[in-house]
Amino acid sequence: MLDVIALHKTYDNGTHALRELDFHVDDGELVCVVGPSGCGKTTLLKCVAGLLTPTSGEVRLAGSRVAGPPRDTAVVFQEYGRSLFPWMTVRQNVELPLKEKRVAAARRRELVAESLAAVGLADAARAHPWELSGGMQQRVAIARAVAYEPRLLLMDEPFAAVDAQTRAELEDLLLSLWRRLGVTVLLVTHDIDEAVYLGRRIVVLSGAPTAVQEELPVPLPAP
Ligand code: ADP
Ligand code: ADP
Repeated sequence: MLDVIALHKTYDNGTHALRELDFHVDDGELVCVVGPSGCGKTTLLKCVAGLLTPTSGEVRLAGSRVAGPPRDTAVVFQEYGRSLFPWMTVRQNVELPLKEKRVAAARRRELVAESLAAVGLADAARAHPWELSGGMQQRVAIARAVAYEPRLLLMDEPFAAVDAQTRAELEDLLLSLWRRLGVTVLLVTHDIDEAVYLGRRIVVLSGAPTAVQEELPVPLPAP
């Protein structure tokens, strides 16, 4: 499904954000990448999302080299406030990427309704993001990603900005969506507890600037 091969990224100012990173994610897996702040997690996700060009090495998605944002990848960022358009309703925010994907109107309505129901926000479709709590806004961001029916869901510290209670709810929401939809998830976090709770496999990045990576098996029963 996803192959990261000898990935290396040096920014224009000389910062080595990633060095010789290799890992593989199987179809339908949920893999967490964990490491301290500055170790290159966001850089990695941006390379996988096709938003950033690697200095060397490559990212392959279903066998093809990623060069530009792939159509079947969705991304959820930490800063939900910035990723939703405040002048659009919740429904319009979730629907927008489907319009860009040229999904027919009737199917769009179905997908929006299904995904908002899946995250427990069926009643908030007409609200604007700024009327919602941070946790609810992040649910909207997740609904938008899920409605897109991506093969690969990328999540960058998706629950770092919400309180502990909401975080626990959203983590369980993610696990139930992942089980139900069979989507492949790559999630990066600095929080080792979160990685262990969510990840069926964990990729560990050491501190910057050298990204030495090792994989830990996670001997956890499915919750
Ligand atoms: P430093 O000692 O400053 O960390 P290195 O000796 O690791 O730098 O790298 C020297 C040069 O080689 C840099 O310009 C760096 O971008 C490049 N480089 C290092 N590792 C790789 C790599 N795996 N792939 C491509 N270029 C690399
Ligand atoms: P993380 O997500 O793990 O906190 P990042 O991928 O954001 O790490 O950053 C990795 C390293 O690259 C850090 O040292 C960061 O300061 C540096 N970095 C990130 N973005 C840029 C950029 N646009 N230009 C220069 N350096 C950057």
